Amino acid sequence: MTSGDSDPSGPGMGDGTRAVRAGLPEPVKYEPTLPGPVFAAHFHLPGEPTGPYAYGRDENPTWTHLERAIGELEAPGEEGVETLAFASGMAAISAVLFSQLRAGDTVVLPSDGYQVLPLVREQLTGYGIHVRTAPTGDDAQLDVLDGAKLLWIETPSNPGLDVCNVRRLVGAARAQGTLVAVDNTLATPLGQRPLELGADFSVASGTKMLTGHGDLLLGYVVSRSAALMASVRRWRKIVGAIPGPMEAWLAHRSLATLQLRADRQTANALSVAEALHGRPEVTGLRYPGLPDDPSQKVAAQQMRRFGCVVSFTLPTRARAERFLGALHIVDDATSFGGVRSTAERRGRWGGDAVPEGFIRFSAGAEDPEDLVADVLRALDESAR
Ligand SMILES: *Cc1c(COP(=O)(O)O)cnc(C)c1O
Repeated sequence: MTSGDSDPSGPGMGDGTRAVRAGLPEPVKYEPTLPGPVFAAHFHLPGEPTGPYAYGRDENPTWTHLERAIGELEAPGEEGVETLAFASGMAAISAVLFSQLRAGDTVVLPSDGYQVLPLVREQLTGYGIHVRTAPTGDDAQLDVLDGAKLLWIETPSNPGLDVCNVRRLVGAARAQGTLVAVDNTLATPLGQRPLELGADFSVASGTKMLTGHGDLLLGYVVSRSAALMASVRRWRKIVGAIPGPMEAWLAHRSLATLQLRADRQTANALSVAEALHGRPEVTGLRYPGLPDDPSQKVAAQQMRRFGCVVSFTLPTRARAERFLGALHIVDDATSFGGVRSTAERRGRWGGDAVPEGFIRFSAGAEDPEDLVADVLRALDESAR
């Protein structure tokens, strides 16, 4: 599960090889392997204003390299896949929703998705778009799909880690002409490939494990449909939610280690989940890679790595706060996917329907023995 080296769906190369080479331009004598960030508001453009590079809100060579790289990871070996980079995951999500939906359309969102989706819902509703929601687990979105223009899937869901069967949902959506977008943030393209599972769009925040160092925000949209992407591109131009060249370059640089990070962090997440498994004070433990997790069966069918996030609940808010305070090598911080482990009491934000003692734990790239020892010690100390 943690090595894509024999993946027949790729162009004959493993994930590590693909990650270190993704998006690199053809070698040019005396030029660097990955050209540095291009800082430009405009480009020299005498005569007729034809591209590729005219104005910095529309195009930038640093984005071009990054977009190619992400496309190669999301859909290895495929021609005609288009990727657009955005300033953040929310910019990418909004670009798909607001470019595709019109007043009178219906969209299906997950009821247990990313915590900003309720705000998005309000905005959509204000524009006369009908919003239906259903939980991710048990493919419950199928029950409210009838007549929808767009189905929005988030799997595994954040922070509850439920998984839905993407192929099954896509099958039902296709049959009635509904577009499908998958939020691929938690899995990353090395964990799952939504386009291969039949989705029209793979959309993600690159802020999390994709870039993995907790030092930038980024988002992207990938699709095979030139027509769909033309409208997403138009939306990016209108709203201007573009990544800075420095962020785009840092992101591309970080992709080279994605396979290393994803393998290590996935293995660490499983180790933490296994360590928590037998603890009496831990309830509601979820990790799609645990053999007895409710998500495991479907996850194993459509995921190649199960991600770095583990969620669980401690008996009280006070116990959860003491636990977080007692951790030495795990930072109390939001977000996830970084090389440094983080954890937080999710209820402090008020946006998710979770118990007061609910912890979202993001496994980093530390040595597994150190990480597990820190977690177990903090659990013991927080009992007092
Ligand atoms: C973080 C996150 C987002 C939003 O991404 P930003 O880069 O913070 O805008 C969207 N979806 C999921 C699942 C996320 O975890």
